[in-house]
Amino acid sequence: MKVLVAGGGIGGLSLALSLHAAGLDGVEVFEASPVVEELGVGINVLPHAVRELTELGLADEVAAAGLATGEFVMFNKHGQRIWGEPRGFGAGYRWPQYSIHRGRLLGVLHRAVLDRLGAKRMHTGHRVVRCSQDGSLVRVEFADGGVAEGDVLVGADGVHSTVRTQLHPDEGPPLWNGITMWRAVARAEPFLSGATMAIVGHFGKRAVIYPITPVGPDGRALINIVLEAKTTEGRPMPRQDWNRAVNADEVRALFGSMRFDWIDLGMLIETAEQWWQYPMVDRDPLPGWSLGRVTLLGDAAHPMYPVGANGASQAILDARTLAHDLALETTIDAALDTYETTRRPATSAVVLANRQVGAEKCMELAEARAPNGFRRIEDVFAPGELEELTTQYKRTAGFDPATLNERPSLTVPPADRTAATNDSPATAPPTSADL
Ligand SMILES: Cc1cc2nc3c(=O)[nH]c(=O)nc-3n(C[C@H](O)[C@H](O)[C@H](O)COP(=O)(O)OP(=O)(O)OC[C@H]3O[C@@H](n4cnc5c(N)ncnc54)[C@H](O)[C@@H]3O)c2cc1C
Repeated sequence: MKVLVAGGGIGGLSLALSLHAAGLDGVEVFEASPVVEELGVGINVLPHAVRELTELGLADEVAAAGLATGEFVMFNKHGQRIWGEPRGFGAGYRWPQYSIHRGRLLGVLHRAVLDRLGAKRMHTGHRVVRCSQDGSLVRVEFADGGVAEGDVLVGADGVHSTVRTQLHPDEGPPLWNGITMWRAVARAEPFLSGATMAIVGHFGKRAVIYPITPVGPDGRALINIVLEAKTTEGRPMPRQDWNRAVNADEVRALFGSMRFDWIDLGMLIETAEQWWQYPMVDRDPLPGWSLGRVTLLGDAAHPMYPVGANGASQAILDARTLAHDLALETTIDAALDTYETTRRPATSAVVLANRQVGAEKCMELAEARAPNGFRRIEDVFAPGELEELTTQYKRTAGFDPATLNERPSLTVPPADRTAATNDSPATAPPTSADL
């Protein structure tokens, strides 16, 4: 079976590694960028995705590239603690949670692809511009006029997915909620536990801050900062470009005075070398991901607000699930069907939960009930209310400890592989002219 993967981001590279691990070696990754660059700032990889990376044999590499997140703490805009909880092992998971530079995680996956599959499977400078199907044959065309053919095409080409646009031509651009995000990293002294992920404020004006490296010999760690503000008034949506660099003027004006006894955000803003701006966008969940032998994965399938740190984690879960299904089902069509039946409802629920601010709902309630702050948190929330709000989100996103620890592995033992190598034409014939 030959699987064509459009996009060599976290989702696409995880898929290539997962297919290889499941005994399906016929994979070709086509990445638009001329080189795989270690771009981005910090992200979190949740225990359910760390489990998958561990089962792919990458536990040591990921651990060395990031920092195990020790706790997650929410504060109101006055810097008062609303709720805190341990993360990773401390929360009863069998796998840690990592705060990690997106580029370094991408680097770990890229090196593993080169080592395990070989450089000839990784085609950089190949922007997919069109795809088509003829029975069981899938064909992709590249911007330079080249073509490739295979049995399956997976669109892992991110929030502006060309493959998704071809499957759903009338969908239009991503949906903006009016919030602009400014992202940066700064070398600074650690705060709180030294492994704390802190969120301050409320939806519409929030700061998300966490270290992504251990403390170095200089007593400093690399701190990730994401500042979010609703800035719709009279403004067009900022360009959706992950690499859009801006100066610090606006963040300084909006957040520079946020100084608490546990962190000085004003100082962090001045320390950061570069700020990047991006609009907070998502898309409505789709009624279907697959058409014939073409399907979607990661942000191409379910772009979501970066609430609850799920974007990269859900892409990794998609990848492992799809490889599992392709190795175990007897036909490709059955495998794509099983994949979509498992992953589409699960990720649609996260997209929708993130619109309701997911686990961070506590911060909205704190702002609504006590905008001027509180003397005791017990005066704002009923007994057990905070715990219930955060537990609900973990269940929705598939990472509550009991479920994750007990669910069967997605690793496919060699004896079980039936590989959906059946070449019969797709049972659901494409309905558009192109597909
Ligand atoms: C440069 C960059 C920086 C990012 N920085 C952050 C960040 O700081 N914080 C954060 O939360 N998220 C960031 N993200 C998004 C985050 O990586 C994803 O939300 C998440 O990891 C899901 O991964 P994905 O593989 O589905 O999508 P992505 O990581 O977006 O990967 C998609 C890949 O497909 C490639 N591609 C796009 N179109 C085509 C095409 N037509 N043909 C072939 N290849 C194509 C892209 O170049 C990219 O490598 C960034 C994404 C990118 C591309």
